[in-house]
Amino acid sequence: MIRESLPDLANPELVNSVAEKAARATTLLRNIARDYAPVVFANSLGAEDMVLTDLIWRNDINIGVFSLDTGRLPVETYELIHQAEIHYGRKLDIFFPRHDAVETYARTHGSHGFYDSVGARKACCHARKVEPLQRALAGKGAWVTGLRATQSTTRDKLKVIAQDTTNNLVKASPLSDWSEAEVWVYIRANRVPYNRLHDRNYPSIGCAPCTRAIQPGEDVRAGRWWWESADTKECGLHLVDGRLQRISKQEVEA
Ligand code: SF4
Repeated sequence: MIRESLPDLANPELVNSVAEKAARATTLLRNIARDYAPVVFANSLGAEDMVLTDLIWRNDINIGVFSLDTGRLPVETYELIHQAEIHYGRKLDIFFPRHDAVETYARTHGSHGFYDSVGARKACCHARKVEPLQRALAGKGAWVTGLRATQSTTRDKLKVIAQDTTNNLVKASPLSDWSEAEVWVYIRANRVPYNRLHDRNYPSIGCAPCTRAIQPGEDVRAGRWWWESADTKECGLHLVDGRLQRISKQEVEA
């Protein structure tokens, strides 16, 4: 769905509902920080994740906030990082790909090899996203994500807390029961910085060469890896049953 207009802040029921959900999410974040320390939040810089950034930083919750800089992000995303750091007076912990992995990829596949095959695209996502994410999660007790259950069919069963028994890592999704409208009510009501590409029909934003605007009626994820079939559109950023693995159809913003 394209966000056609910003939600109506004059709707008191919606505003109250969002305030209640934000309070519950804040309590959950505090509890996770207390129970699973050290805890990190994988901030993809999408709209949901800016809500979580606001909740964590404004409430001074002891959760490290990190982002992955793949080196291929849109300029608007870098502008958001700069804007957010000024807005909150805090620094994001940025994880970059290993330079040798990127160099090997470029030598093997070329700088735009991700367009050539699903395998080459996944190799790029692994070097630029998955490996840095694994480094960011190493030694942590839990990680927080901005996933919402209604974002895709595969996320319908999304749990607020999922136990990773293999790696003894918990994944928490405090916004799992939020709607898109509620996310934008929160952003508007609290003047949360957000990526300006969202105003240009980019509901899901990843790397610049792999993200485009969507058309009315298109799925929210249609602008990501649009040259691939739907069932290959994952880059492997989420832990499922204790392992970093792809969710079969839709994926998180990175
Ligand atoms: S989204 Fe595209 S550019 Fe970014 S890591 Fe994946 S394949 Fe590479």
